[in-house]
Amino acid sequence: MKRPAIKIEVSQSFPWDTPCPLWLRICLQLLLTFSLANTMACNKGTDATASAAPSIATTPAPPAAAPPDTAPLPHIDAKRAFQYTREVAAFGARFMGSENHKKLERYILDHLKGDQTEDDAFTADTVEGKFPVRNIIAKFPGAKDGIIVILGHYDTNYPLRNTGYVGANDGGSSTAILLEFANQLRGGLHDKKRAGYSVWLVWTDGEEAVKTWTDTDSLYGTRHLAEKWEKDGTLKKIKALIVMDMIGDADLNIERDTNSAPWLLDLIYAAAERGGYQSHFYARQGPFEDDHLPFVKHGVPSADVIDLDYGYNNVFHHTPQDTMDKLSPKSLEIVGDTILETIHMLDQR
Ligand SMILES: [Zn+2]
Repeated sequence: MKRPAIKIEVSQSFPWDTPCPLWLRICLQLLLTFSLANTMACNKGTDATASAAPSIATTPAPPAAAPPDTAPLPHIDAKRAFQYTREVAAFGARFMGSENHKKLERYILDHLKGDQTEDDAFTADTVEGKFPVRNIIAKFPGAKDGIIVILGHYDTNYPLRNTGYVGANDGGSSTAILLEFANQLRGGLHDKKRAGYSVWLVWTDGEEAVKTWTDTDSLYGTRHLAEKWEKDGTLKKIKALIVMDMIGDADLNIERDTNSAPWLLDLIYAAAERGGYQSHFYARQGPFEDDHLPFVKHGVPSADVIDLDYGYNNVFHHTPQDTMDKLSPKSLEIVGDTILETIHMLDQR
C-alpha cells in the first residue's frame, strides 16, 4: 500500500482562519449567517489543508439506507483472528521468494484443508530481479450466479527485509482476517453451497513494491490475476470485490477511498451501522492505491478497506514498529463483522 499522493482539496475551515481584509471578514460573516458558508471561499490560493495525509471530511458521507434486514448480525471469532495475526507476524519478514514466505504459504494452505483452493502462480520480473509470486484462492460456492471476491495481501515489504520488520498490521492482519472469513464461510455451508453468491477469498502476493512504488513496481499479484480473470471471463461475474489492508490498528479509522465504487463504500457503511461500528469509518477520505486498482481499471465494482492512519501521522506504517502491540482483536472484529454483513447485504441484492 502506498501513501496517498498529495492532494489539495478546497478547505472547509472557516474563512477567518486565513488572513483576510476586515471588510471581507465582515462580509463573509454576514454571508455565513445566511447559510452560504459552504459556497464561499476566502481561501483562494491558500493550501492550509494540503498535506500528505488524506483530507479530513468534516461532513460525513451520507450513509446508504440499509435494506430491511432481520437476520442476526454475523460475528467473527476475533480472538482466533488475532491469534492468526500473531502467528503470521511470528514468521518474520515474508517478502516474495523468501523462506518465511514459503512457510506462510504452507500455513495458509494448512488452514484451508478440505476447502476448494486454487493457485495463481507466476514469475514476476522486477527491478530487483525475478521473484516467484503466488496468489492463493479459496472458493466457497453459492447458489446465486455471481462472485463476491475478498482479497488481502500476505507478502511483506521487500526493502525492509533486513530491518526486523514483521508487518503485523501490513500483511499480517489481512492474512489473518481472510483465514477467519474462511472459517465463517465454511461453517455456514450446511449443504455445501451458500444460499447467496459464491465467495472467493484471495491471499494476494507481491502487493508491495520491491523498490519504490510505481505503476509497474507494485501490485504484482493482482495485476496478474486481473489479466487472467479478464481472459477467462471471471471478471464479468464479479458482483463486488473488497480489499482488506491494515485493518488491525487498535485505533481503527477506515478511510473513504475515492478510487473505490461509491455505492459499495456506502453499503459497507450501512453494514457497519448495523453493528454500531460506523464511527470507525470514513472520517477521512482520499485516493488510495492498493490491490483493488487492477480490478477498478477493468471496471469491476471494488472497494479498499484500509486504515492508513497507523499511529500518529501513520508513523508505524512500513517501519519495524509495525508490531502486535499496536493491534487489537476489537478492530479485527469491527472490520470482520462489517464485511461479513456486507456479504450478506450483497447476497440480498
Ligand atoms: Zn505495505
